Amino acid sequence: MLWEWLTIGSVGLLLLDLAAVGFLVVFGANVGSFLNVVAYRVPQGMSVVFGGSHCPVCDRAIRPWHNLPVVGWLMLGGRCRDCLVPIPVRYPLVEASAAIVIGGVSSVELLSGGINLPAGNEVSREIWWRGVDSLLMQPNWRLVAICLLHLSGLATLLAWSLIELDRQRLPRGWWLGSFVLLLALQMAAPWLQPVGPLGDWLDRVTTGPPPAWQAAVLVGLTGILAGGLLGVVLKKLQLTGNLAGQGLALVGGLCGWRATVTTAVLWTAAAVLRRVAATGMSWKLPSERDDWLVTPRLLLADLVVALTLQLLSWRWLDGFARGLLERLVLILEW
Ligand SMILES: [Zn+2]
Repeated sequence: MLWEWLTIGSVGLLLLDLAAVGFLVVFGANVGSFLNVVAYRVPQGMSVVFGGSHCPVCDRAIRPWHNLPVVGWLMLGGRCRDCLVPIPVRYPLVEASAAIVIGGVSSVELLSGGINLPAGNEVSREIWWRGVDSLLMQPNWRLVAICLLHLSGLATLLAWSLIELDRQRLPRGWWLGSFVLLLALQMAAPWLQPVGPLGDWLDRVTTGPPPAWQAAVLVGLTGILAGGLLGVVLKKLQLTGNLAGQGLALVGGLCGWRATVTTAVLWTAAAVLRRVAATGMSWKLPSERDDWLVTPRLLLADLVVALTLQLLSWRWLDGFARGLLERLVLILEW
């Protein structure tokens, strides 16, 4: 009976899938709304939990319906309702970006049954279910947890990118705490890390594969160190903004050190595209005020785009990187 409904109701299922995507996009927009608050309050040492939204100029409380992501700004015509001071377009832009990034990654990851995750790991091996019906009827909680971890990583990077654009200081406790928390989570639940340390190569040089939690922590730790090192080098070469080390280390901690290399390539491409689009397909030098849209440096905002693409195509990027690496190891051994 249920199966009949499933085949007959494939149009209904498609609508249900679309509804799920819509829900995840709205969820992402709300995360973006929260990140606007975080990026404004954390560098000033204010609480992000307590105190409602206020207009920074007239200090009047913002009405709940005007606090709706993107829609609220449009309803107000981009001005405070009380004092008519313009509300920067950055607020709805951040909300829209978070909606696309978080809605996109979670939709693909959850509705495809984790098809984007690197092949050969426990979680992506056991799934062939796809669609919102399987998500609701037979939820794979591990996949949901992996997805939540990725969304947290994206949201954190988005908040850091706003702090970088504002030329604010990123509190040390925040990034150090994020890395410690990430490693602790991967140690407690090794399946949160879908890539292995070095694949076959490690099995050949050691007596056997390491226990799962050691492997996961090894991937996370080498990722953080490789990403941090690469980021600091890029920053010293003045190719990036100030927070490159922290940003790439976060990518490495989430996806392992191989991903720091592939993400760095995507990062460069994203920055070049942003600059070409901003300068209208011409290669003018950036203006004196160093507008972030035209700066030739790689910004964390570009890294958010790169991490999104990395997560969406992780399986294929990792397969490519691993193939190259194995060929290299074979040549070295020979
Ligand atoms: Zn106001």
